[in-house]
Amino acid sequence: MCTACNTFLDRLIDRGLLIETGVDGLYGRSGAFESVIDGFDAAISRIGGGDGAEVIRFPPGMNRALFEKSGYLKSFPNLAGTIHAFGGDDAAHAGLVERLAKGEDWTQHQALTDVVLAPAACYPLYPVVAKRGPLPPQGRLFDLNSYCFRHEPSKDPARLQMFRMREYVRVGTPEQVTEFRQTWLDRGQALVGSLGLPFHLDVANDPFFGRAGRLLANNQRDQRLKFELLVPIDSEEKPTACLSFNYHQDHFGALWGIRTSGEETAHTACVGFGMERVALALFKHHGLETARWPDDVRRALWG
Ligand code: ATP
Ligand code: ZN
Repeated sequence: MCTACNTFLDRLIDRGLLIETGVDGLYGRSGAFESVIDGFDAAISRIGGGDGAEVIRFPPGMNRALFEKSGYLKSFPNLAGTIHAFGGDDAAHAGLVERLAKGEDWTQHQALTDVVLAPAACYPLYPVVAKRGPLPPQGRLFDLNSYCFRHEPSKDPARLQMFRMREYVRVGTPEQVTEFRQTWLDRGQALVGSLGLPFHLDVANDPFFGRAGRLLANNQRDQRLKFELLVPIDSEEKPTACLSFNYHQDHFGALWGIRTSGEETAHTACVGFGMERVALALFKHHGLETARWPDDVRRALWG
């Protein structure tokens, strides 16, 4: 038993479920942790798998030009992660090695690459959909899963810098898209209920940056565009968003030029599952040993 384990994070590390890297919000995961992620992933597929979604797996890096166009830097400049690489010559390299050895700033010749880290699984999708031309009459449905990056270092194990997000994304008419979101609001609650977790739903807003961002956040709340399914993990007072249900209206449709079969601007919605957050919620509420979890919870995960 760990005597210095004061927090949930300490206990997770002490048990080897998370492996420290020296950076807050960046952890290795054990086999036991991953088996919970796999079980939850399979449980999502058991519910959504019959809908005929097209499966696409993007890498965690996305095209920087498309990221720049997406507007992410307008709303969340503080969270974005960009990838740089050395672009200098021999002399610059010698300087780099020297400064590194002295513990000085070595980044002088680091230049932006064409790749940034995806902030959400669905960001690379919209331009791909637009490129295919007008939607079929039934619209489109996608199944995504990607590692995502957000620069929000924290001691809260549920606020990671790199984490996995599974998503279903619906693209179509306003009716098709709002029906999809309602279906997943119902399914999401049933799913999390089957895992024996306490939860509630609430309207939410994204953490838009700055003073102008406050306006966007208020608008998002007032129009009930985002719902979150919250589970207490780090604290009872501030429960954690484990699933999100987002209705973007025609925002991405207009930005990327996605048209319905009736030549209207397409609407989009997505449901996002925070894979690590759900796993952490399960460890928090059922204990650190999966073998001792309630039978019905184990069945919901692993059949
Ligand atoms: P929060 O309000 O907690 O910052 P969010 O509203 O920014 O979360 P979304 O942008 O809706 O989250 O992301 C979709 C899902 O990804 C969330 O419901 C959550 O489960 C998960 N997620 C978001 N940020 C993190 C993070 N830093 N660490 C782990 N999971 C995350
Ligand atoms: Zn999304």
